[in-house]
Amino acid sequence: MDTATVQSEFLQQLFAHRLLIPSGVDGLYGRGTWFERVVEGIDAAVQRIGAPDNAEALHFPPVVTQHNYQLSEHFKSFPDLVGVVRGFRGKDKDHLALVEKMERGEDWAANFGPTGVIMTPAACYPIYPTLKGTIPPEGKRVTVLSYCFRYEPSLDPARLQMFRQREHVRIGTPDDVREFAATWKARGEQLFKELSLDSWSDVANDPFFGRVGKMLAANQRDQGLKFELLVPITSREKPTACCSFNYHQDHFGHLFEIKLPTGEWAHTACVGFGLERTTLALFKTHGFDVEKWPATVRERLKL
Ligand code: AMP
Ligand code: ZN
Repeated sequence: MDTATVQSEFLQQLFAHRLLIPSGVDGLYGRGTWFERVVEGIDAAVQRIGAPDNAEALHFPPVVTQHNYQLSEHFKSFPDLVGVVRGFRGKDKDHLALVEKMERGEDWAANFGPTGVIMTPAACYPIYPTLKGTIPPEGKRVTVLSYCFRYEPSLDPARLQMFRQREHVRIGTPDDVREFAATWKARGEQLFKELSLDSWSDVANDPFFGRVGKMLAANQRDQGLKFELLVPITSREKPTACCSFNYHQDHFGHLFEIKLPTGEWAHTACVGFGLERTTLALFKTHGFDVEKWPATVRERLKL
């Protein structure tokens, strides 16, 4: 079976088992009872293995301000993935015109203007602007869970337009960040092993936009700035990244003016567990009925 068929069949099975609920738009789904229980189980398992870090748990709405979005320079690399929120600020007559346009089936997008709000592209984005200034000598550790938006409609159930990442973020010296990456790589590998997932790690690159993007992607790979834990959801030949490590060097430190006590820009790195993808990997590996999963896996997820 070819890749597209495997993916769309899996999607149909997820709908049939009420694990995902269709919305009419590819990549935007409701989550069924058992799907969500597994998501919560994975998140709790990640938080248990990360507990020794004592990271500060922060919570943000799944949006970033336009100001902070622009500071992040995300649009330079991923203009094709971002979602911008627009709103209506018209008067009565504009409202009437809008309703008439909608009723005539005409394009009404131009009747909505900027709100200053952008959908968050990765769970860690709202954190960096809050850290402006000098961080303590031991650096900082923050954890967040957020829905993220990426405009990449697909029939692959593992490529969603809205999905959740559980992230742990380290802000500190290059050594702090290196130690963090090694620790979380071992933790992630151990967790996936305990979930009886067939998983391996590999270097990776982000889907940078355009011709310049090709160079950025090659550079990211050469410097080993991104690596992923891969699990077969579609197939072993086309494995899916369920957990990613991103080392930003001093990119965010510089852009958001986060300093080490020495006065140098802080380095940052994050590890993000894709909660829906890990959930899908479990359903693909162990079947659609959680009650029939291996006892060890259910135990690990407290299901
Ligand atoms: P990234 O921010 O691109 O490094 O992604 C971090 C993690 O989010 C990945 O390892 C995936 O598990 C998950 N992820 C990224 N893109 C998607 C998507 N379109 N749908 C579902 N999960 C995703
Ligand atoms: Zn991140």
